[in-house]
Amino acid sequence: MSDILKDLVKILGNDKVAVDPLTIKLYSKNAVYYEGNALAVVFPETTDDVRRVVKYAYQNNLKIYPQGSASEIVGSTTPRKDGIVMNFMRMRKVKEVSYVDSYVVVEPGVRLIELNNILSRNGYMFPIDPASVKSATVGGAVNSGSGGMMGAKYGTMKDWVLGLEVVLPDEEATVLKLGGKTTKNREGYDLVRLIVGSEGTLALVTEAILRITLAPERVVTVTGFFRELEDLMRCVVEIKKSKLDVLIMEFVDDVTAKITIDTIKPKIAGEGHLLITSVSTVDEAASRVKDKLVDLYAGSGATNVVAAESMGEAEALGIFEIRRNLYPATIKMASLSLRDDEEKPYIFVEDISVPPSRLIEAVKRLREISEKYDFPMTLGGHVGDGNLHPVVWIREGDKDKMEQFNNFVLDIMRMAIELGGVISSEHGVGKVKKDGLVLSFKARNSIKALSIMRQIKRIFDPKNILNPDKMLPSV
Ligand SMILES: Cc1cc2nc3c(=O)[nH]c(=O)nc-3n(C[C@H](O)[C@H](O)[C@H](O)COP(=O)(O)OP(=O)(O)OC[C@H]3O[C@@H](n4cnc5c(N)ncnc54)[C@H](O)[C@@H]3O)c2cc1C
Repeated sequence: MSDILKDLVKILGNDKVAVDPLTIKLYSKNAVYYEGNALAVVFPETTDDVRRVVKYAYQNNLKIYPQGSASEIVGSTTPRKDGIVMNFMRMRKVKEVSYVDSYVVVEPGVRLIELNNILSRNGYMFPIDPASVKSATVGGAVNSGSGGMMGAKYGTMKDWVLGLEVVLPDEEATVLKLGGKTTKNREGYDLVRLIVGSEGTLALVTEAILRITLAPERVVTVTGFFRELEDLMRCVVEIKKSKLDVLIMEFVDDVTAKITIDTIKPKIAGEGHLLITSVSTVDEAASRVKDKLVDLYAGSGATNVVAAESMGEAEALGIFEIRRNLYPATIKMASLSLRDDEEKPYIFVEDISVPPSRLIEAVKRLREISEKYDFPMTLGGHVGDGNLHPVVWIREGDKDKMEQFNNFVLDIMRMAIELGGVISSEHGVGKVKKDGLVLSFKARNSIKALSIMRQIKRIFDPKNILNPDKMLPSV
């Protein structure tokens, strides 16, 4: 064992340090494609464990790669051989729940689903619901700035983090308590929001104070298929005008809906573009709201309309099946394109947003880009907030296509910027979208913002030991 590893065992004890190659391999992968390497994996159980490792890392120029459940899909956790993975899964206490003051205090390894299981017993919820909610941790969601299906109503993590305890990667491994337990807080620069979405590059989150809210008494859900995208968007506009309290508005394009239907044979099928709308209401109004939504769908030309007066009924009817299985269906499509068992597909989930009123144009232009490069693509997204997730796949053995991939993604990001949107909405920048950041700030004549970000990184992390080479482009 090298001196570094012996020192780590001395600092944390044998139980909290893994050095065998297979464990390291397991913790060096993310959810999709990226795989790195590391000297060891450490599993801190307290803030003090984190501090002691950070102090040692600072003195010895050892890099630290923070990790929750590594479900990110942009390479923001991928470690290198020059450092250690710091996995937070053992820091998973829910320390305080206050329904009166609407907050929880949690450790970073708590999974979002665990938090919601506790809150739902009292009719409350934490509304950030990434599709990966069963594995995503608080620390990972804070640092990714995650969002989810209810983004149009509840926004993303930046809207729900009230306070953070963090360990800085400096000589003293300084512990800072930022923000607090109140929704109103004006104490200088907002360092909490700076750390939210920083992809583990600024500080190690060891505790979070999160805002919570009442869960809707009743959720009414309607789905249907539209031959023309214009009809679907007309329905979206009518629903918005109708002043219904929309929670979820999900879309799957016609080609993708067909692929998914053919692949998983869901309970609900149809032809055309799929729209799913969930509305928050109260028990007494459920039936009336359902009828109103169904009328709006029918009035916009929807076919195969199915409605449910509760989430339980929606699940039983299979209303979310096509949307939820979009990614697994894409993986199946990708695996069918492989030539042999040895080959791996490279699967990429895009994450642009455009103002919802520009969605039709965005979808058309995405299809043109996919045809230009001859890349297969599935497409779904959150219509309510304009966040689109085109998914493409390439055979790793197809060198030509792998070479074109970067230009393909740049074209998509350029299109989002031209339509007034952003290059990343909830997944982050990681390793894959650094060029997009340059594009985006250049387009706004604001390239200096990137040099300000680099200076901020140096202030927090003077020796560049925390998740180096992530998020910030070097030029
Ligand atoms: C099938 C699937 C569906 C998904 N759906 C969505 C979706 O709908 N919406 C969405 O936003 N995302 C989605 N994601 C992406 C991802 O799951 C989320 O970003 C999730 O919140 C990440 O949580 P995690 O615990 O896995 O974090 P990780 O992947 O482990 O880490 C994410 C980032 O946070 C950093 N980090 C982790 N913990 C800490 C800590 N304690 N201190 C400092 N830095 C830390 C890491 O270094 C990394 O930069 C999806 C992923 C998959 C695989």
